[in-house]
Amino acid sequence: MLQTLALGLMAVCVLSFGYILWRSSGKLDALSDRLDARKQDYIRLQARGDRMFNTLDDMDLSGKIVLTRVDINVPVDGGKVTDATRIERIVPTIKDIQAKGGKPVLLAHFGRPKGEPKPEFSLRVTVPALEAALGQDITFIERPDRATLDGAPDDAVILVENTRFSSMEEKNDPKMAQFLASLGDVYCNDAFSAAHRAHASTEGVARLLPACAGRLMEAELNALGKALGNPAHPLVAVVGGAKVSTKLDLLSNLLAKVDHLIIGGGMANTFLAAKGVEVGKSLAEHDLADTAREIMDKAASENCTIHLPLDVVVAQEFAANAWSKTVPVDQCPPDAMILDAGPETVANVIATIESSKTLVWNGPLGAFEITPFDAATVAAAQGAAKATKSGRLLSVAGGGDTVAALNHAGVASDFTYVSTAGGAFLEWLEGKTLPGVAALEAAAQTKQE
Ligand code: ATP
Repeated sequence: MLQTLALGLMAVCVLSFGYILWRSSGKLDALSDRLDARKQDYIRLQARGDRMFNTLDDMDLSGKIVLTRVDINVPVDGGKVTDATRIERIVPTIKDIQAKGGKPVLLAHFGRPKGEPKPEFSLRVTVPALEAALGQDITFIERPDRATLDGAPDDAVILVENTRFSSMEEKNDPKMAQFLASLGDVYCNDAFSAAHRAHASTEGVARLLPACAGRLMEAELNALGKALGNPAHPLVAVVGGAKVSTKLDLLSNLLAKVDHLIIGGGMANTFLAAKGVEVGKSLAEHDLADTAREIMDKAASENCTIHLPLDVVVAQEFAANAWSKTVPVDQCPPDAMILDAGPETVANVIATIESSKTLVWNGPLGAFEITPFDAATVAAAQGAAKATKSGRLLSVAGGGDTVAALNHAGVASDFTYVSTAGGAFLEWLEGKTLPGVAALEAAAQTKQE
């Protein structure tokens, strides 16, 4: 009897032990799966460096529909695209999506149709230029639905009609975001230039699907991150252009970050006038004298050196090849206007740039559209280009007139990065959060957790 009891007890022990082993091996498997996933996450994060967003490299796109927000808001004349630069710049993203087995479905806006379908704002006009840039046919769809997209051949590139034909787009209406999300499996944003707008196709949908940056967005964010996010010092900013009033936020954000702030163009006149310097008939915002003084005081407390013109080129009229002369900064005749910086100023600008490791540039140093008042902008741009080419300087520039000025100086391609993003670039310089970028960062965060 005792023997039977002992045998029974042993059998129970063996069975329980086996059961425990079996359970724990299951748990161990689960644990090792989790560790494996963590390891993969860790490897992925290491590969990403301190990037806060996913790129196409982080995504599995095989067999998936990839909603791709692009900016192809290109100039058109007589029904033809007159400058296809923006279209050409999205080609690497589309090709990479295809190479990873995804089907790109392009979402974009075109002009300002104000929430209604209007034939003159149809994206159809961009199709020939897109086909030429990609070297393949484009399927244009006015009203997309999932079945049609699924039914399109695997190698198709689909362009959806102007997102702004719906009034829900600019309102970032959740219904539109949900509808867009229902069309795809993955969202890819390649439109940095539209990232300062919280619209359904730039922000809302990014929060509903696994999301990543396209190649153009990735390049822009990397360049901007290196320039102001985590820059190599000394860091210098050149801020020029017409008016201080349009760049107040930008100046105060830069002050806190840069070692040198070079102020040029019409806006330098406002600062000179605030210091009591005679600026004659120059473009200057005299009512902003107090603001200019506050900016200079703040710079002193932030250890930021402000550089104002030392000498200036003055003229009696704002016209090409007008009579002009170079004078020390405090000798502008009362009946003349300052239209450019002089050679001594340019030498100081170039020396400051050459002794810096990072440069951020927005706004020309003079009325660069008119000869000879382009001289300072051209010389400084060439100096920055030379320092960049030698590998000593990382240079980032942006702004409509700035890009035009760098092109005019023939050096745009020598800068590390020239942003054509306009409003988004300026808001980034102002230190603002760009909703489209914030949504990508949130998506990357979700994936990590
Ligand atoms: P955008 O605003 O298009 O992005 P940006 O930020 O690069 O361009 P703006 O602030 O618009 O540049 O300034 C450029 C304008 O400033 C040019 O039209 C130029 O002629 C003008 N400007 C520069 N210096 C002077 C000056 N001393 N007097 C008058 N106008 C000037």
